[in-house]
Amino acid sequence: MGQAKIYYDSDADLGVLNRKKIVFLGFGNQGSAQAQNLRDSGIPNDQILIANRVDSYAETAKAKGFHVEHDFATAAEVADVLFILIPDQVQPRVFNEQFSPKMKSNATIVVASGYNVFFNLLKFQSGQDVVMVAPRMIGSSVRSLHEKGRGFPCFVSVEQNGTGKGLDVALALSRAIGATKQGAIASSVREETAMDLFAEQALWPNIIMMFREAFNVLKDAGCSDEALCYEMWMSKEPAEIFERAADDGFVAQLKHHSTISQYGQLGGSLKLGGEAMREHFKDILDNQILNGKFCEAFSQIEGDLDKEGDTNPLNELYRRSEEMELVKAEKRVKARLAGLL
Ligand code: NDP
Repeated sequence: MGQAKIYYDSDADLGVLNRKKIVFLGFGNQGSAQAQNLRDSGIPNDQILIANRVDSYAETAKAKGFHVEHDFATAAEVADVLFILIPDQVQPRVFNEQFSPKMKSNATIVVASGYNVFFNLLKFQSGQDVVMVAPRMIGSSVRSLHEKGRGFPCFVSVEQNGTGKGLDVALALSRAIGATKQGAIASSVREETAMDLFAEQALWPNIIMMFREAFNVLKDAGCSDEALCYEMWMSKEPAEIFERAADDGFVAQLKHHSTISQYGQLGGSLKLGGEAMREHFKDILDNQILNGKFCEAFSQIEGDLDKEGDTNPLNELYRRSEEMELVKAEKRVKARLAGLL
């Protein structure tokens, strides 16, 4: 793949949204931010409907002046555009059972993450448009950056072009939520899902493992818990380094470090060939992510994630991670700092 196309405000015509009823399923992190941005962009409030069960999210939406519909069948019937902004793992159940059968045959369905579309977990009608508008930011930043008149990074794609106008609608929606101000990058659910799951299942597990083992080696060499926790993450130095990497450049940020540090980091990383790691990464991408194996396995345990206690597989993973020396040491250090020890 070469360069990706980038769409700006000038590529999008808000006029294509005229008189369209835009329904937001969910008013959480992304739902509340995107709905408010869209309204601020001039889409009349009467064209916007929030579909949410009766609870605090619905109350928040009402308090912000939105029309709220608790009956999903009604919301499905009126929607010309449906933003699916509820947690990924509940989308297939809620959308396929309560929305899909009732929706207009030429509606536009918008996802903010590629997962369920890439793995064919949502049931669409062939005349519908299916588009992805996926902010690369948490909802509060999607909102605050828009309020400051700035944009935020976002991926956009058309996955099913039932009406033939899918891209026009996707770009108009992207502009309305503030995503084309800084430039929305043309992507796909495959690309978004591959990169997301790769970061979660390959990159970060290795980073966590490297921190765990670095901690163990330095602790065995006589370093104290306090010194290690501060040196490795509690000082927020790694966070600062990543901030500099985004601003100055991934390698160029090294110039802010001491000469000994620059020499050590560059020399050390260039000495590591990385062949074994590349094989390991490729194996996870091909044989765990893209072939649907993880998705299939996750679907099997997804229902257990609502359970309390040890039968919840995520709780069990947290319990096992508590056995890491790094985690135990951090607890001791934090308790001591809080004056509890
Ligand atoms: P949230 O966890 O904030 O969603 C909460 C909303 O979902 C509430 O309105 C809640 O209402 C509703 N909801 C939860 N469970 C159900 C259910 N079973 N039935 C009906 N409604 C339900 O979601 P996010 O905003 O974090 O994520 C939404 C989408 O955006 C996902 O696809 C995610 O991948 C994507 N995304 C998220 C980002 C983020 O920063 N979080 C960043 C970029 C993309 P109630 O419980 O009252 O029914």
